[in-house]
Amino acid sequence: MNLGLLEELVRTPGVSGHETRVKKLLIEKMKGYVDEVNADSFGNVSFRTKGNGGPRVMVCAHMDEIGLAVTRIDDNGYIRVIPIGYVDARILPGKKVIIYSADEEHESIPGIIGIKPIHFQKPEDAKREISVSDLHIDIGCSSKEEVERLGIEPGSAICFEKLFDRLQNDRLSGTSLDNRAGVYVMAEVAKAMQKPEADVYWVASCQEEVGLRGAKVAAFGIHPQLSIVLDVAIATDTPDLGTSFSEAKLGGGPIIVSIDKGIITNRKLINLVKSVAKKHNIPLQFVTVSAGRTDGAEVSVARAGVPTIQICLPLRYAHNPAEIVDLKDIIATVTLVKGVIEEFGNGW
Ligand SMILES: [Zn+2]
Repeated sequence: MNLGLLEELVRTPGVSGHETRVKKLLIEKMKGYVDEVNADSFGNVSFRTKGNGGPRVMVCAHMDEIGLAVTRIDDNGYIRVIPIGYVDARILPGKKVIIYSADEEHESIPGIIGIKPIHFQKPEDAKREISVSDLHIDIGCSSKEEVERLGIEPGSAICFEKLFDRLQNDRLSGTSLDNRAGVYVMAEVAKAMQKPEADVYWVASCQEEVGLRGAKVAAFGIHPQLSIVLDVAIATDTPDLGTSFSEAKLGGGPIIVSIDKGIITNRKLINLVKSVAKKHNIPLQFVTVSAGRTDGAEVSVARAGVPTIQICLPLRYAHNPAEIVDLKDIIATVTLVKGVIEEFGNGW
């Protein structure tokens, strides 16, 4: 498995609404393996592998990531921001960030989110809630004009510093593995899928982290009969998560999120996935949660309804600049998704 593509996906910035660079990378890497490429007017890109009379299947993985956006530039050159997506403000102070433009019309500019030195912190500072609006980014400039000359303006996108490392036991840590790892799985399945019965549309959706917007548009346009949504789900095998959540281990196999805030999965579809997993000897994990949604929430209710399965990679430390996944889960998920699409081709 070519992990180089995963690393490239991780290192390419793509905060929601600013996914152009990720899209360009995917088009370059996928065009030789698919029959059609379609970048829609909303910001999604879909790749089609033509079928042979089977159902129209939409495989969907969101390519955007959480981040920040510039809201104002102070006279003394500090940059103020708002969160894009579900950002934990407590982890931000002291982090390195990159301010970039989606279309590369100006260079990527590094900065540091300001943090009050521990020497000057008062006991009450430790208890104070942190809000993103209290923070500032320091890029080394000392005036508003200096910042503006770099092409930075309200709306400019900001991502976390891009990290990618191989850890022990085939585990990988990286920035925005939610959901570049899902996009990577989709790309690997597409490359391995030659002449399927099902007519497959591989969608890298935009703006998932701000409300599943891209998937909604794509599902309407493609009008699929069945769908597989690839995303990540939180592994609950860390000491801080206790026993009140579904059991989900890193390395324990793909997670079927059967119920979440956006979907209650069709049982027939779950049984089909179970039988494919059994055939290929893939362990499955099942998660039901009351919070969280994936693109599946929108795809499943598109038009007259689309039976949709959410196949997710277990992931630790979600929405932190360095998340962790297990390569074994990635490999198993590629096999599972390929098997499910083949099964769809046999009739639903
Ligand atoms: Zn996600």
